[in-house]
Amino acid sequence: MVVELISVGTELLLGNIVNTNAAFLAERCAALGLSCYYQTVVGDNPGRLLETIRTGLSRADLLILTGGLGPTGDDLTKETAAQAFDLPLHMDEHSLERIEAYFRERRIAMTENNRKQAMAPEGAIVVDNDNGTAPGLILEKDGKRMILLPGPPNECRPMFEKSIAPYLRELSGTVIFSRTVKICGQGESGVESRIKDLEQLENPTVAPYAKSGEVHLRVTARAADEKEAKKLIKPVVKELKNRFGSDIYTTQEDVTLEGSVAELLLANGLSVSTIESCTGGLLAGRLVNVPGVSEVFKSGYITYSNKAKRRIAGVKKSTLEKYGAVSGQTACEMAKGCAQQAKADVAISVTGIAGPDGGSAEKPVGLVYMACSVCGTVQVKEFRFQGNRAKIRESAVSAALTLMRQCILAYYSEKTFGK
Ligand code: ATP
Ligand code: MG
Repeated sequence: MVVELISVGTELLLGNIVNTNAAFLAERCAALGLSCYYQTVVGDNPGRLLETIRTGLSRADLLILTGGLGPTGDDLTKETAAQAFDLPLHMDEHSLERIEAYFRERRIAMTENNRKQAMAPEGAIVVDNDNGTAPGLILEKDGKRMILLPGPPNECRPMFEKSIAPYLRELSGTVIFSRTVKICGQGESGVESRIKDLEQLENPTVAPYAKSGEVHLRVTARAADEKEAKKLIKPVVKELKNRFGSDIYTTQEDVTLEGSVAELLLANGLSVSTIESCTGGLLAGRLVNVPGVSEVFKSGYITYSNKAKRRIAGVKKSTLEKYGAVSGQTACEMAKGCAQQAKADVAISVTGIAGPDGGSAEKPVGLVYMACSVCGTVQVKEFRFQGNRAKIRESAVSAALTLMRQCILAYYSEKTFGK
C-alpha cells in the first residue's frame, strides 16, 4: 500500500514551525510497512489544497493529511477533502456531544464555530480526539482513502498511535516487527561495508541508522503474525552477532549506550568517576541519564584549566609543559588522579580541542585524548573528530562511553584468561 503525506498550514510553508508531524508520520508509516514516496506541504488555501489532494490521489492509495481541522475560517482541510471525494458534510452528533463536554469540563464557553468541528463527511469514520476538540476522520471512496488528523502534535501523535496505527495494520493485513542491533565504536561506512549482502535481503530487511558514535542496524520483518516475524528476524540477528561480536552493546529497544555501560559497572560491582576538560560535564550528564546509576557513579570533575587539572587530578606541571593539556600523557594522569581522588574503580578522562579556535597544524580542532583506568590498568586513546564544537563534544562523549565499555570488557576477559 502506498501512502502520501500532506501537511497543511501556511505557518509550515513559511518556516515558522518545523514540520515534526511529517517526520513522525513518515517514520511510523515506514515501521508499519507502508511505502511513502511523496510528502507535500501546502498553505491554508483551498484551491491549492484541492490540487494537492488530487495529485496525491492519482499516485497513492492513501493520503494522510494533518492540520487545518480547527474551528477558524482558515481551517479548510475537512471541507476540501470532502469536496475531493464529492461527499456532503453533515453534523456528527457523537462528535458534537464530545466537543460540548470538552468545553463544559473546562468551564469555557463554546462558540458557534466549534460546532463546525463536529461536521463530518458522509460515510466517514470519526476518530475521537482525547486531547482536543477536532476529531480525526477517515474517508473512503473507490478504494482510495484519506485520513485527516489535527495539526497540534500533542493531538496528532496520540490519535495516530491509539486509532490510526491499528486501522492501518488491519488494512495491510500484516504485522511489521523489528529489532535493533546497536553497535558502538565503529563508523557507519565501516559497518555498512560488512553488511552489503544483508542489505540485499527483502524480508527481513536490514537498514543502518547512524547515531553519534553509534550505528544501529534495524532488522525488520513483515509477516502474518508477530511469531512468524520473529522467526524471520532471529537468524539475521544471529548473523549480525557473529559479525560484530562485542561491538554490539545491545539488541534491546530501550537500552542506551550509557545504560549498557551502567549495567556493566553494576554487574561487576565497579564504581566510576569522570574527569572532563573539553566535554565539560557532558559525559557525567550522559551517565546520570541512567536511572539507578547512583549505585556506581561517585564523582564527576570538570577540570577545564591547567590549574584544575593539577589541583584536582595531580597532573604534573612538567607533563603539561612538555606535552600540553591535550595529550595522551595528560589524559593518562587525569584518569589516574581521578581514580585516586574519587576512590573509584573505573575512571575516565577526556581532554581535547573542541574549537572553533585553539587548533594548530600539529594539534587540530577535533583532536581528543581519553584515558580509562580500570582497577589500575590504564588505556589511552587518541581521536580525531570532525564537525563543529557541539558535534565534536557529542562525539567525544559517545567515544568515551565506548572506551569505558571496551576497557571493562577487556579487563575481565584478560582476568579470565589468566594473563
Ligand atoms: P487548531 O484546532 O489548533 O487550529 P488544526 O488542526 O487546525 O488545529 P493547524 O491550525 O494547522 O491545525 O495547526 C495548529 C498548530 O499545530 C500549529 O500552530 C502548530 O503549532 C501545530 N502544527 C500544525 N501542523 C504541524 C506540523 N505539521 N508539524 C508540527 N506542528 C504542527
Ligand atoms: Mg487551525
